[in-house]
Amino acid sequence: MEEFELNSHLHAVHLLMILRVMRESLLLLFSAIFFAGSVAAKSPNFVIIFTDDQGYQDIGCFGSPLIKTPNLDAMAAEGRRFTSFYSANSVCSPSRAALMTGCYPTRVGIPGVLFPRHEVGLNPDEITVAEILKAGGYATACIGKWHLGHKPEFLPTRQGFDSYFGIPYSNDMTIDPDMQLAADVLLRDGFTADRISKEKPRKNLVPLMRNEEVIEYPCDQTTLTKRYTKEAVEFIGSNADKPFFLYLPHTMPHIPLFASAQFRGKSSRGLYGDTIEEIDWSVGEIMKALKQHGLDENTLLVYTSDNGPWKLSNGRGGSALPLRGFKFQTYEGGMRVPCIMRWPGRIPPGSNCDEIAATIDLMPTFAMLAGAAVPDDRVIDGHDIWPLISGKKGAGTPHDTYYYYRGNSLESARKGKWKIRRTGKKKDGIELYDLETDISEKKNLAAEHEGVVRKMLEQMNAFHAALVKSQRPAGKL
Ligand code: MG
Repeated sequence: MEEFELNSHLHAVHLLMILRVMRESLLLLFSAIFFAGSVAAKSPNFVIIFTDDQGYQDIGCFGSPLIKTPNLDAMAAEGRRFTSFYSANSVCSPSRAALMTGCYPTRVGIPGVLFPRHEVGLNPDEITVAEILKAGGYATACIGKWHLGHKPEFLPTRQGFDSYFGIPYSNDMTIDPDMQLAADVLLRDGFTADRISKEKPRKNLVPLMRNEEVIEYPCDQTTLTKRYTKEAVEFIGSNADKPFFLYLPHTMPHIPLFASAQFRGKSSRGLYGDTIEEIDWSVGEIMKALKQHGLDENTLLVYTSDNGPWKLSNGRGGSALPLRGFKFQTYEGGMRVPCIMRWPGRIPPGSNCDEIAATIDLMPTFAMLAGAAVPDDRVIDGHDIWPLISGKKGAGTPHDTYYYYRGNSLESARKGKWKIRRTGKKKDGIELYDLETDISEKKNLAAEHEGVVRKMLEQMNAFHAALVKSQRPAGKL
């Protein structure tokens, strides 16, 4: 009996142990399933901070000698710097068309800058990154300078964004008197609705819009960076529990330059430096908001510029050093821009990538990360660059060749270390640089490498001919 009792006791202990192990295994299994499920269900958030005409050098960690950017430097220390990152054009509208569509802007019919007198915009038939994400259940907001058409048909609210707050084009432009004024519009400097409709519009006086109406005219640009930031932080807070896409294209440092009282006169790089230091503050506020809402590990934060800096003698333009050239040009300084990406846990901290990557790659990359499909009924020029972003060992650029358009003419191409530039029809208009040894494009090697020149020109001609054949029109009223 005793033995039996002992045995049964041992059996009971064994049984308990087995049950306990089973229970723990089951718990592990369930939590593994639940975790996998929750990771799959938790689509990452995307934030793009897009500055206007900021030069390659104009961030501390990109070598600025005078501009202080502690927040961007911290973002780079926690993330990855891209040192061969390209905008798709050297001016505003086409560069933004590329970001929205993942295509070279010439392909989607936006080869140049749009003005308030124009009745065109990004074609509503194009599928924007915002539309792709919105279809996947994302909350979407555009806060800042749009510049892809200011007529209602072309505004962010018609291109995949739930909401819009900002200026519709560059801050040196005018108002289009046909624009819809909000019932409670704030009119400043003695303006009335009557004056707006009758007077010849003046440069540097731009409207501020909410969704499809003008809410302030002329826009007080001194507080614009602050107001964009406030809106952005509020958007993050109110969407913390669902996936979101925040597109924050700053108005600065496009000229005329403005900074708030808190930043004006503070930078040792003059008013230009003030605007960048205020944007740096803004980046800090965005990162604070992400952290505060526990979104760091689930948010890809991207910072870059739309194109290179203005060439100005009054100190109000930026610096693309050590690159050659400025905005409006296909030299590196016009289109190679500073870029930082940050996603704790997914992007190796404090790392660098010198592979060719570009604004046109963001749409395909975001689509992949969100589990959405890239449109397959049209040519998309960009590629998924997640292997480059995540620092995958041995990952190389997906761009065998990268093309630099100026308007509708294909002026330059880069293939590996080689950069070719063709500005005239004549042979002496051809430049060839080895960017590995000559990042400043100083020594023209065209005469020494005729074979490379011939091959790259052939390739450019073939690419352009194919692009023209499949070119898509801009949206027209
Ligand atoms: Mg620009």
